[in-house]
Amino acid sequence: AGDKDTKEKPKYTVAFEATFAPLEFRDEKTGEFTGFDIELIKAIGEVEGFDVELKDMGFDGIVSSVKTGNIDIGASGLTIDEDRLESVDFSTPYYKAGLSVVVRANEDKIKSVKDLKGKKIAVQIGTTGSKYAKTIEGANVTDFDQVTDALMEVKNGGADALVNDNPVNQYYVSKSKKDYKIVGDILESEYYGIAVKKGNTKLLEKINNGLKKLKESGEYAKLYKKWFGE
Ligand code: GLN
Repeated sequence: AGDKDTKEKPKYTVAFEATFAPLEFRDEKTGEFTGFDIELIKAIGEVEGFDVELKDMGFDGIVSSVKTGNIDIGASGLTIDEDRLESVDFSTPYYKAGLSVVVRANEDKIKSVKDLKGKKIAVQIGTTGSKYAKTIEGANVTDFDQVTDALMEVKNGGADALVNDNPVNQYYVSKSKKDYKIVGDILESEYYGIAVKKGNTKLLEKINNGLKKLKESGEYAKLYKKWFGE
């Protein structure tokens, strides 16, 4: 008796930084967080039986919050890289991205990353784009909390270029073609993963199983098409 299943679904906190459209951003009309990562983690929760509580935070705080267990899940276009693998565990890769360069639409001197030597570069703090930009010879790199602020700095001439994830650059440039353009090729391939606290294999398994199910059911492809249109 009393064996009825009254267990509530677990609820996990999910951290992201919400100026990273189309992966995570605030819908201007509804005021709600939305985007590919947001819908993906919700869908994983649905097939794996957990709820999510969404938390917008500074990008540079996400990995450390997951590391300490302050946050259960990091889903924020997080590139799986060696440094981060020392702090957190990642799901199987769920998206292939890469860095690209954004300049002002009327810029005619910067045609690729090769022309960024000695230039002023705006980046988002704590990102792979920031790391990359700092390896460019003589570059003067400024870190911004938000991608949208880094872009604004390019627009108003405070910086010559933004180095940031290409899918996000594509999104913002397509919204504002009179202000910006992308130049050159994709700089490096990067793979996104969903981060959990090191050793939290139970949650990691749920996430990996969920991803697998969504790929098999076609739901992943649907989300991909919705947000990236390919
Ligand atoms: N993919 C990049 C990184 O992991 C940028 C992610 C982001 O700005 N949300 O550093």
